[in-house]
Amino acid sequence: MIHLSCQHIHDWTYFTEGNAHVILKYSGNDPTLAGYVLRLTKNISDQQLPDGFHTDFRQHIITTLLGSKYLDHMIHVQVTPEFIKTINDKIHNDRPSKRRSVLIHPSSHASLMKNWTLYYAPEDTWTFELKPKWGFLPKSVHIDKKHQQLKRTKCRFCMHQRLRQQHDTTDNMKSSALHDYCPLDLYSDNPQRIRKALTSSLTQPHNYLKLFHNGQLVPHTHWRSTFPLLFNHQQQQQQQQYSGQTCAKISTTTVGMGHDHWINMMVDVLVKILTEDPILKILKRLQQSLDEYDVEGIYPLYQKYGQQPTHDINHWKYIVEQFMGRELQQNLNDGHKKNLDRDKGTGLKNMDDEKEELQRLYEYLISMTLKDCSVMICMTKGIRNRQGDTALPSTTSRAMVESSGHCFQYHIKVVDVDMKKWNKIPFWFDLDKRIIQYNLQQEQQQRHGQICLD
Ligand SMILES: [Zn+2]
Repeated sequence: MIHLSCQHIHDWTYFTEGNAHVILKYSGNDPTLAGYVLRLTKNISDQQLPDGFHTDFRQHIITTLLGSKYLDHMIHVQVTPEFIKTINDKIHNDRPSKRRSVLIHPSSHASLMKNWTLYYAPEDTWTFELKPKWGFLPKSVHIDKKHQQLKRTKCRFCMHQRLRQQHDTTDNMKSSALHDYCPLDLYSDNPQRIRKALTSSLTQPHNYLKLFHNGQLVPHTHWRSTFPLLFNHQQQQQQQQYSGQTCAKISTTTVGMGHDHWINMMVDVLVKILTEDPILKILKRLQQSLDEYDVEGIYPLYQKYGQQPTHDINHWKYIVEQFMGRELQQNLNDGHKKNLDRDKGTGLKNMDDEKEELQRLYEYLISMTLKDCSVMICMTKGIRNRQGDTALPSTTSRAMVESSGHCFQYHIKVVDVDMKKWNKIPFWFDLDKRIIQYNLQQEQQQRHGQICLD
């Protein structure tokens, strides 16, 4: 077990953060830690989880569902309260001002993870961190009849954005960025629709897509001017050895192409990756089948049973086994009887069955984790040798895409897959109610907005 105390403070610097975690990157000299990040939690669960629970949950629950290629081991480490206190002081000014009020918790869970933004180091590494959010329209029979039409035509993300914009009308960039963006396009497996979602995200970036280049977060304002580097990387490295005249020529060509050209090139590559790799299809299927009741069907169960024990990883394993068994059975049934009513709330006949209801409560929490995870798309440029074959950096990843004569090697990882807390269920139910009421109001006022296609 690795222990970190105050003597290690100088080895760690601020990297990035989300709502739940602060991520530090290693800048010390220990080769075993080089290329790792340290993840520290801002809040700890009300229920005391055993040490290493998050690593177990990730390894035994999420990995079983998503597949081992998308997740790597996370190493649980022990940190002293003094380490946390000193780190909080050290990184204060490096954190975004809006996030500084929430500190890393003194009893924070700490874990080491690979730094995916340096995946191909020392080769050039480009990493898109995508938070794809909810990928389906719910069809549960537990949804109130008054909400059904809305929930079946507008996705949760788009409805939530609409509510947010009500409170956020001054933030024009955010509002306009999300105007055309619907995650269901991204999840659609249809190249044209994926292109639409990505073009919207790359031209008017939003909080659900980040870009890192060799371990550095690239600010949104620099994206357009950064993309040519990805395509010309090898060329530029070679050219830099030559005269300034040649460099200028390359640079002029790059500018002459126009920013939209490079955005289109970037979108081409990402569309190819996202249609080739099944990760979004897997996430969509799991999010949906682990949430067949919708929060409107889950909240009454939460009221009935309350918070359930969570610290026993074996029980979570049992839940996943039951879920996978049911999926398998449904697939077999679907094979025999295409019109099996699975979307209308499978298990309805067992609604009195306490075991079934508890199973659905646990499944819902897993679904909420998968609706909030991030997909890291790491890539580097393949190098053509004299024979025209593609030479790859020496890593185990062999996935390649070719676009407009450029070859890229890529690797996809899923992060942010911690267990959600039971006490979020009333919050999610309440939020759902507010989202629905606001959107119903808008519809009544004839402000229909777009329809989201599942
Ligand atoms: Zn939508």
